[in-house]
Order: sequence, then structure tokens, then C-alpha cells
Amino acid sequence: MPAVTADTLLLPRLPELPESLTSWRDVRRIVQGRMSLEGEGFQVRRPFPGTDLSLADPFLLLDHMGAVEYGPGEAKGAPWHPHRGFETVTYMIDGAFEHTDSTGGGGLITDGATQWMTAGAGVLHSELPPQEMVAKGGLFHGVQLWVNLPRAQKWTPPRYQDIGARDAVLLSSVDGGALLRLIAGELEGHSGPGVTRTPISYLHATVSPGARLAIPWPERFNALVYVLSGEGTVGPERRGIEEGQLAVFGAGEALTMRAADVQPQASAHGWEILVFGGQPINEPIARYGPFVMNTRAEIIQAVEDFQAGRLATTSAEHLAHHTEADGNLR
Ligand code: MN
Repeated sequence: MPAVTADTLLLPRLPELPESLTSWRDVRRIVQGRMSLEGEGFQVRRPFPGTDLSLADPFLLLDHMGAVEYGPGEAKGAPWHPHRGFETVTYMIDGAFEHTDSTGGGGLITDGATQWMTAGAGVLHSELPPQEMVAKGGLFHGVQLWVNLPRAQKWTPPRYQDIGARDAVLLSSVDGGALLRLIAGELEGHSGPGVTRTPISYLHATVSPGARLAIPWPERFNALVYVLSGEGTVGPERRGIEEGQLAVFGAGEALTMRAADVQPQASAHGWEILVFGGQPINEPIARYGPFVMNTRAEIIQAVEDFQAGRLATTSAEHLAHHTEADGNLR
């Protein structure tokens, strides 16, 4: 169950959207997240990138980490690795991730907090469970979303936004059946705390069994719903969707979704979903592991800059100690 909860009856409510509204976005595709191993070998579910990357533009990747109850000594992360050309948005639903980077920044992302990292021209960082979690074990559940940067902003200096659990804007659906945690973007006059280079909206909703969530959505944005846990339906056609699956919506002005009346035991309190979308960048994408640029020449340059220690302002020591040890580029 997410660390951040609230009594929806005490929160600002979204207005009612009538069912008769004709511009509901339909569902184009349901995509199954694939299991993948990251970093030192922690398991993630990854609904994209898949075969057709354009579906997600301006997003590049979504990794769903957990939920997993680590035993002592089991927690793993991603040691030192580089990024260039985009932003990583790490949202910890439960548990903690410790971040250290080449600009001297860092900190603990924990229990409902979000870290927004604009890698821009280049950064080296490590993302690891804190020592205490490694020693004792514990619940670990989070997501990392990669947001692309347009060509003109790929060389921007690195920037961080630490968004505390209390900074997310909490809202209620019209009947109190859904709790929304708005992390970025604007919804009915409410603005999430994340400052985005590429315009996006990003929220986490807990929808009570049987409840409906209907929200307006900017027409110029794409629209995606990822299921963290539980079961429900998406779109006016009520297509079934469950944990680990992603819905890709078509064009329109609003989104509708509904939690199943009966939820699996692990999600008995409600259906947990991420609702997100952004303005497509519509530029060529060249990507290699942790680098996302516009051309192959820029990727080669990124690899050369990394190998020569020019990618970020980190000390040569970091590079020698950490990249040789794990060897792989994420
Ligand atoms: Mn990373």
C-alpha cells in the first residue's frame, strides 16, 4: 500500500465529467510490461520501449521496480553509470533509493518522494538502496520514467528537483472514490510540483474497488495508463487491464477508467495506476543504453566523452572505480 494516503473527503474535488461527453479518448493498445534485469540485477517490469517507440513520445522508458519485499542482503540498485540527453523521474511509492551523482548532488528518495533529474549534457550517478535496507531488507516499490528532451535542450546543464512526499498535490475524484497524487502538470486548476522542460502531466491514483475516475486531458498530449497493482477497465469501451500492463489512448479531450469491483488480495484497498502523458517531441531518436540523442554521431560522441571522462564533471577516480567494477552501461 502506498506510503502517501489521505482521506479523500477532505481533499479538493475534481468536477464531474458527464458520461455523455463524446470526446472520451478510446484505447488503442494494451501493452504487457516485460521483465528485465537492471543494474546489479534487480528486476523491473518495462512496458516500453518496445517495438514502436513513437507511441510513448515524449517518454522513452518506464521501469516498474517491485513491489518486492526484500530479505536481508537482497536489495540491489544501479551503481555508477552515465546519462545524457533526457530526464529521469524516479518516484518511490514505498521504500527508499539513495542517489549520488557527479555534481555533488544526492539524497534519499523515500516513501512517496520524487526525484526529477535533468541529465541534459551529462551526469554520472548511482542509484542504490540505502545501507539500512540492504542490511535489514524491507518493502521496495517505485517507478522510473525517462522523459526525452528536444534537440535544443539536450545540452542543458544537469538539474535536480527533489519533490518531497508532501509536495505532491492531493486531489479527490468527484465522489471521493479515487485519491490522486499530482506530481507534474496541471489538472483543473491544480498544478503539480514538478517543473518540466518537456510539457507533461504525471499522476498516481488509487481508485477504490468499483469507483470511476474521469479526468480532462490536454488534447495536445498523448495519454498512457500503467497499472501498478490491481484490476480495472480503461476507456469508454471498458477494456480490461491488470497489473504490469500499459494502456495507450487515442485522441480526445478526457480519460475515463474504472476499478474492478473485486480486487486481488494484494491490492484489496484499491487499483493503483499511473496516468501520464506529454507533448510529443517528434524528432529523430538515436539511443544507446543511457544516452538518448538525435543522431548516431551524437551517440558516438557521448560514448567517447564518457570513456574519456568528459561526460560529466566527476573526478576521474569515480570513473576508474565504478565503471570498471560493473562494466556495463545502463
Ligand atoms: Mn540512472
